[in-house]
Amino acid sequence: MRAPDVVSRIDEGELIALTRDLVRIPSVVRPGEPGATEAAVAAHVEQWMRKERFEVEVHEVAPGRPNVLGILGDRDAGPTLLLEGHTDVVTEGDAALWTRAPFGGDLVDGKIYGRGSADMKSGLAAAMIAAAAIRRGGIDLGGRLVVGALVDEEGDMIGAKHLCTTPIGRELTAAIICEPEENEICLEQRGVVWARVTARGRMAHGAMPEAGVNPIVALGALLREAPALERRLRKLCRRSPHLRPPTVTPTVVQAPVQGVAQSNVIPSMAQATLDVRLTPGPDAEAIGKELDATCERAQEALPGCEVSWQAVNGFRLATQVDKDEPIVRAMVKGVRQATGRAPKFGGVPGSTDGTILRMTLGIPIVTCGPGNRQIPHQVDEYVEVSELVEAARIYVAAALSFLEP
Ligand SMILES: [Zn+2]
Repeated sequence: MRAPDVVSRIDEGELIALTRDLVRIPSVVRPGEPGATEAAVAAHVEQWMRKERFEVEVHEVAPGRPNVLGILGDRDAGPTLLLEGHTDVVTEGDAALWTRAPFGGDLVDGKIYGRGSADMKSGLAAAMIAAAAIRRGGIDLGGRLVVGALVDEEGDMIGAKHLCTTPIGRELTAAIICEPEENEICLEQRGVVWARVTARGRMAHGAMPEAGVNPIVALGALLREAPALERRLRKLCRRSPHLRPPTVTPTVVQAPVQGVAQSNVIPSMAQATLDVRLTPGPDAEAIGKELDATCERAQEALPGCEVSWQAVNGFRLATQVDKDEPIVRAMVKGVRQATGRAPKFGGVPGSTDGTILRMTLGIPIVTCGPGNRQIPHQVDEYVEVSELVEAARIYVAAALSFLEP
């Protein structure tokens, strides 16, 4: 069977049904609430893969939080390609604000609604159906195709981090990240550093400020420095036609850091978090130097105060992949074959599991999947069925091109 024949075999009804099934299994991770993990949806994915006679690996990343991997093909036959999705979804928030049930999986006017419909149970379902079409077609692969359903992308990405430590993870050659990007081929993703800045002063009575050192004053200076930091990062990072330039956004301010807040007490410590978004270019050291300089200026504003920063959850640098990479050429060919159109290139506004794979394993990644880029994490999240079907077709054509014997 040739690639176009397999592409034409994608069954729209089956793909819609699988996507709705996945949306209907809630997988918001609520720490401290027993059972509120990815376990149920991961079990569904595992069963489905076993029924399709994939080789299945289940890696328990944390209690009740397994990565599920479905594998086709032979390790010795060539490279290993990952089609990657995550099983967790963000909270539905206030369900009363939704016009459709957040976990109903309603299908109305060519759209499937629900939390995770775009981000990213549709992308995961498209990857699963694409792999099943290849297996059912009895096609010999020149390598291995792995469908990975990972946990915790919306959290600390422990699923992707864990995958990088496993034998199959270390053997990956390239990955397609099936996140909602309107089926554009995204070769760049913005990076992120959450810089938690701590100002340490000296506690005192609010009526006698000269007796203490007020760390809140230093934080004020830090916040005034944020636009200058942003300007410097914009000079340091490369411009990209597909990505917004770097941004520095204060998101959390807290004082006191511990104990009771009282109107007549100068606290000993104050903290602010800067959400720093990056485009490709500088390494972690260069970014760190800019943050050091910002803290130094805040410290100079208030003698006796100590200002330092720390990256919450490490650095996720911006990623970029060359157009000449075989996986990119396979995607370009795949989009042409599956849609009959020239591919559109785009960029990912945030970081994904692909960031971890790129930084840790050094493998090329391409992000491409169904769903409006703006819709994730909103109420009335949906995915267009037409984009969903197109994504599955693209995955088939790209995988067969990349894994041609
Ligand atoms: Zn996602």
